[in-house]
Amino acid sequence: MVKVAVIGSSSMDLVVTSAKRPGAGETVLGDSFKTVPGGKGANQAVAAARLGAEVTMIGCVGKDHYGEAILQNFQDNGVHIKYVEPVTEMESGTAHIILAEGDNSIVVVKGANDAVTPAYVKRAKPAIEQADIVLIQQEIPEETVEYVADLCHELGVPLLLNPAPARPISSNVIERAAFITPNEHEAALLFAGMSQGDALKKYPEKVFITEGKRGVRYFNGKHEVLVPAYPVEAVDTTGAGDTFNAAFAVALAEGKTIEESLRFANRAASLSVMKFGAQGGMPLRQEVEEAIR
Ligand code: ATP
Repeated sequence: MVKVAVIGSSSMDLVVTSAKRPGAGETVLGDSFKTVPGGKGANQAVAAARLGAEVTMIGCVGKDHYGEAILQNFQDNGVHIKYVEPVTEMESGTAHIILAEGDNSIVVVKGANDAVTPAYVKRAKPAIEQADIVLIQQEIPEETVEYVADLCHELGVPLLLNPAPARPISSNVIERAAFITPNEHEAALLFAGMSQGDALKKYPEKVFITEGKRGVRYFNGKHEVLVPAYPVEAVDTTGAGDTFNAAFAVALAEGKTIEESLRFANRAASLSVMKFGAQGGMPLRQEVEEAIR
């Protein structure tokens, strides 16, 4: 079993469906309400565990009802939670989602995810040291990503940065990360002023731009390669990126080649879009292997 350490966010998504979206000062009656665990860090940790890795999550939740539910969800999916700390001074991260009139409106409250500071992550150094790969995203403070990039470099542990949501990253982080996986929108921000082709060429086998149902593009040292996505009937693409990143990390940690790892990641992500919900559609290892044959 390969060891994956995920450093990132966890949250509870509070999802309301309603025929009508309320305007300012307006109250409407909704149709349904449910709570679903989310957060890019948590999603990627759960996806990697379902794909057969031994996963340690490094993050924070509030000392509240949602925090307990988030921890329970990690345990149900076999994710180690020794380094997921309930903090008293902040609420658990939440996303408040209204699905109405064929679109969504979302308010995200980062809450305890802001407590994932460099000092906090430092306490989890043993888990990072032992990991075959470390996975990180950008729903935690910027200085933490910077710290982890330096730490992984010092420890010689490969770091996969999923630069989502989009924000600029330092050249130090770009240099130190082993793999960076922006989608097209994030790539445009990260490599502003450069064509995507030039950005890929500048970082061969390091930058991988995901292009939704088209697949993923990178430069292999000789030429640009598009590894095509698997054509499927997409029901809900939420979490496709999270499944892709987790699967890519697991495959790389297992020693698969980059191209094999991208095919595995595309396959896993394609299965995830066939079901509703970010974590709801994340496939088990066996399902990906059967689909890839
Ligand atoms: P997210 O919707 O989770 O934010 P993202 O924008 O980070 O996703 P995408 O580039 O949309 O990332 O998708 C990541 C990967 O998921 C793609 O490279 C592809 O392998 C797979 N994927 C996404 N959408 C589809 C689809 N409609 N059909 C098949 N595979 C898909």
